[in-house]
Amino acid sequence: MPHTAELIAVGTELLLGSIANTDAQMISRELAALGIDVYYHTVVGDNPGRLRAAVEIARSRADLIVTTGGLGPTCDDLTKNVLAECFGRSLVFHPESARRIESFFAASGREMTENNLQQAMLPEGCTVLTNDWGTAPGCAWEQDGITVVMLPGPPRECSAMLRHRVVPYLRGEGAGDGEILSRTLCLFGIGESAMEARLRDEMLSMSNPTLAPYAKEGSTELRITAKAATPAECEALIAPVEAHLRAVFGDLIYGADVKDLAHAAGELLLEQGKTLATAESCTGGMIAARLTEIPGISAAFRGGIVCYTDAVKRSAVGVPEALLEEYGAVSRPVCASLAECVRARLNADLGVGVTGLAGPDGDERGNPVGLIFVGLSDGKQTWVRELHLNTSRGRNRNMACHHAFDMVRRYLTGLEVAPDEGDAHR
Ligand code: ATP
Ligand code: MG
Repeated sequence: MPHTAELIAVGTELLLGSIANTDAQMISRELAALGIDVYYHTVVGDNPGRLRAAVEIARSRADLIVTTGGLGPTCDDLTKNVLAECFGRSLVFHPESARRIESFFAASGREMTENNLQQAMLPEGCTVLTNDWGTAPGCAWEQDGITVVMLPGPPRECSAMLRHRVVPYLRGEGAGDGEILSRTLCLFGIGESAMEARLRDEMLSMSNPTLAPYAKEGSTELRITAKAATPAECEALIAPVEAHLRAVFGDLIYGADVKDLAHAAGELLLEQGKTLATAESCTGGMIAARLTEIPGISAAFRGGIVCYTDAVKRSAVGVPEALLEEYGAVSRPVCASLAECVRARLNADLGVGVTGLAGPDGDERGNPVGLIFVGLSDGKQTWVRELHLNTSRGRNRNMACHHAFDMVRRYLTGLEVAPDEGDAHR
């Protein structure tokens, strides 16, 4: 497998700033998960001379060159021509790709023009990377110790092709013929490095399925990918690995193939017919905003109050004056009260309260930045998590939301709601 990579994104619109080079970000992440170091990101316009120069530089300092964009049917799509020329290959007609392009157009009811068949012209002797997500096939080959991979620009196609075609190709498993199935386990409460440390040996020894960790802000993911002749065979390969991971990580796993914790919590509320209300201070409505991204959540989400000042905590939510005076707004008792009062006031099954110092400044009581309390009440019991986050304001607020959703999902699945705190009641 290659060790050092250079990504060349082709497209004048990238240089003009019309679009961001998200393909490079995505490819870098995926290659890092394979243990390939990406040393350079190059962006070049739709200009053959400058692309040629960029390729010459890349081949002098990387053993994997991945290009994105410029594989389409229009005249500014020149990546294949230039790369083929740089590596002394001619373009030859690939009938199987032409057939796929024709059937893609037939299936979508769009009219195919002659130049679409340009996309079936591919560098001689290359491995064709079949594009099941669009029309332009990708391609790859190895020459003089350098692996060249070409991918289409549209991010959806680029990322699917990378996962399902390029990763197997780089691993020497062919170009993704047969079925590939992935399952992503989503975890909260464990960092990527801790997760990897627990699994390192297994990950290295596994070849099918493979296991790859990913870090997302606030949560981590483990993707199991199996390759076999049929989806059922893939499933049979995935199942025991999934069972093993569930045994290792237990209730840190909040779902499989779910979008995020907000969706996991929202789906549980809907499934169980439970309602929720929120009183948010330092998160300023972020919890409510994330819940309302979920279609159909009106059946579960009653509403939320953004209670940024003490006066609003008191008047709109109903937190007793005495609590605010005695403990201050950023305190465990006030957090518990926010959750309890908003639950009662908005007539919901569950109430969530958040209060804290997102930063950059502390408060007059000497509380540190990043001290955030997140509470959940069901009317009988109230749980509060005390967080000491102290990262950026944005990340502190984001983490507070994740904790709120984690408490809701733990409550609804019968788990301890605030495991590190004891089941703290004020
Ligand atoms: P098409 O068949 O659509 O022409 P292509 O491989 O020729 O695909 P381009 O024409 O270069 O790709 O780009 C198509 C679209 O894909 C661009 O308009 C842009 O929206 C998106 N795109 C291209 N390159 C990138 C990139 N590096 N990052 C994110 N998006 C990109
Ligand atoms: Mg194009």
